[in-house]
Amino acid sequence: MELVDTRDLKSLDRNIVPVQVRPRVPCLGMHILNFSKLKYKNLIEQFKDKGYKFVDFSRTPNQKKEILLRHDIDFDIGKALEIALLENQLNVASTYFFLIRSDSYNFSTPENIKKIKEIYNLGHKVSIHFDSTLYSSAKAGFTLEKNLFKLLTNLNTEIVSFHRPNNFYLDNNDDFFGVPHTYQDRFFKDIKYISDSGGGFFYDHPTKCDAFKNFDSMQFLTHPIWWTTKGDTNIEKIQSFLKESSKNYSVHFAKNCKPWKEFVNKS
Ligand SMILES: [Zn+2]
Repeated sequence: MELVDTRDLKSLDRNIVPVQVRPRVPCLGMHILNFSKLKYKNLIEQFKDKGYKFVDFSRTPNQKKEILLRHDIDFDIGKALEIALLENQLNVASTYFFLIRSDSYNFSTPENIKKIKEIYNLGHKVSIHFDSTLYSSAKAGFTLEKNLFKLLTNLNTEIVSFHRPNNFYLDNNDDFFGVPHTYQDRFFKDIKYISDSGGGFFYDHPTKCDAFKNFDSMQFLTHPIWWTTKGDTNIEKIQSFLKESSKNYSVHFAKNCKPWKEFVNKS
C-alpha cells in the first residue's frame, strides 16, 4: 500500500503529533571531527575485518553482520565521487542519493551526470535524495524528480532517501508513492542506525557502539563532504569548502565573462 494515495502530504503534516524517535542532538555548533578519507577507510576496514557484508536496500537486511552504507549528497557531487572511488578500492559498494533540484549543485550538468554515471559504473547504486519542502504536492514533486532522474541517468528510482526529514517521514513505514525509502522500519528501526549528520557522530559511533560489538546489522549514513574536505572541525570544513567553491565560481565567471577573465589574469 502507498503511504498516501491522492492527498497532499503537507496538509497531512499539520495533523501529525510529533513523536521523537531519536534523542535530540546534544551539542550543535563547532565540533572537532578528525574526519578524513583515511579515517573513513579505517572505519570501512573495521567492518570488513569483523565480517560485515555490504548490502543494498533491495531487500530486508539480516539482523546480523550486514551493513547498509548510504551517502546523502547535500552539497557536492565531486565529493561523492571521491568516496565512491575509495570504496571501490576497498571492494565495497554503497548507495548514493542526490538532490535533483538544489541550490547546492546542478544535478543536470554534463559534468555532474558523468560523475554520477562513474559512481554507478564503479558498482554503487544511485538514487534520489528528495526534498519535500520544494513542493506543495509531494506526489507531484516526486513524480517530477523520478522522471528527471530517469531522463538524465536512464535509471529507475528503486529507493529514496529524504533530505532533512521531519517525524512524519521518519515514522512512516509504508512505501513512498510506490517506492521504498531508507527510513522504513526494516532499514531504520529494526537494525542499528548511525549518522554523521551535522558533521559528527552525535548519537552513537559506528564502531564503538554496542551494536558493532555484537555484530548487529546497521544502516550507516554519511555525507562525503565531512570526510573529503580540509579542516579539523565541521565549521572549518565548511569554510574551506566555501573558499574552494568561490574559486570554482570565479573560473566559471571567467569562462563566460571576458572582463572578469582579463581582471583575473592581471591580478
Ligand atoms: Zn540531505
